[in-house]
Amino acid sequence: MKRNDIRNIALIAHVDHGKTTLVDGMLKQSGIFRENQKVDERIMDSNELERERGITILAKNTAVRYNDIKINIVDTPGHADFGGEVERVLKMVDGVLLLVDASEGPMPQTRFVLGKALSLNLKPVVVINKIDRPDARPYEVIDEVLNLFIDLGASDEQIDFPIVYTSARDAVAKYDLNDSGYNLKPLFDTIINSIPAPEGDVDGPLQLLVTNLDYDDYVGRLAIGRIIRGSITGGQQVSVVKKDGTVVKGKIGTVYQYESLKRVAAESALMGDIVAVSGIPDIEIGETIADVDFPEAVEFVEIEEPTITMS
Ligand code: GDP
Repeated sequence: MKRNDIRNIALIAHVDHGKTTLVDGMLKQSGIFRENQKVDERIMDSNELERERGITILAKNTAVRYNDIKINIVDTPGHADFGGEVERVLKMVDGVLLLVDASEGPMPQTRFVLGKALSLNLKPVVVINKIDRPDARPYEVIDEVLNLFIDLGASDEQIDFPIVYTSARDAVAKYDLNDSGYNLKPLFDTIINSIPAPEGDVDGPLQLLVTNLDYDDYVGRLAIGRIIRGSITGGQQVSVVKKDGTVVKGKIGTVYQYESLKRVAAESALMGDIVAVSGIPDIEIGETIADVDFPEAVEFVEIEEPTITMS
């Protein structure tokens, strides 16, 4: 089954290229394009956003809505130092936004992350940001990005990446630099049209690959990951497949999904959803939460720590 109601994407950007500003803009415009909905009801108050910004950094998961489609955005560490972590984060998504400063161009530190994304066959969208800068040189930067893709051995299909031009500062996106931009609609549309919807078996035995951890004072440790197969319900009995293959039994507490910058309790979640679950106090990254009677691990290859090459 295809989950046409979700897209799972990762944001790859060099520090200061505008990741936070762009996500803030997407949050502010989240839901406003839906018809028959009062615009201002949906826009998050910017003070509220400011207060929650600290949480983003910890949670690293954000969800925005566009035309009844939920876009889960996961952050990727900008540096190659987090080799293993990058691979795990990328396991949650079907596509990546490569955000590049229109003046600075692609930076060597994002090369490793992009290379990983391409080798995992994820669909890339290139976002050229800060087009309002007086020293912006967008066409040259696109050439540099293209060379980077070629260098990294991208497939023909990946090299044919869609491009969106943005000023995250002004919350504006365009398909063409000559267009007048009003909002981020072209970016939302490109994500929906270019990045594949999650596809898999909704009815099969549960598999949730744990790719991140979080902590909550009330419910304790939370396992974060994507449901690879089946569905999960609060209170459900499960098997946990450890990295050495041993299986232990457990019981899910609450299932949470992401809405804006918050975790929201949900009755259940399905294949393709990115969730946080409580109830398994000693869960670790890389383990699989599986059907209680069918403890099958998600294949998960740990990669070697890379060496950063500055070119
Ligand atoms: P991050 O490190 O990638 O999260 O980058 P930030 O979103 O914090 O942005 C870094 C700096 O660039 C901040 O001072 C932003 O105000 C600025 N910035 C972000 N987007 C734009 C843009 O589209 N145009 C201009 N001129 N500045 C921007």
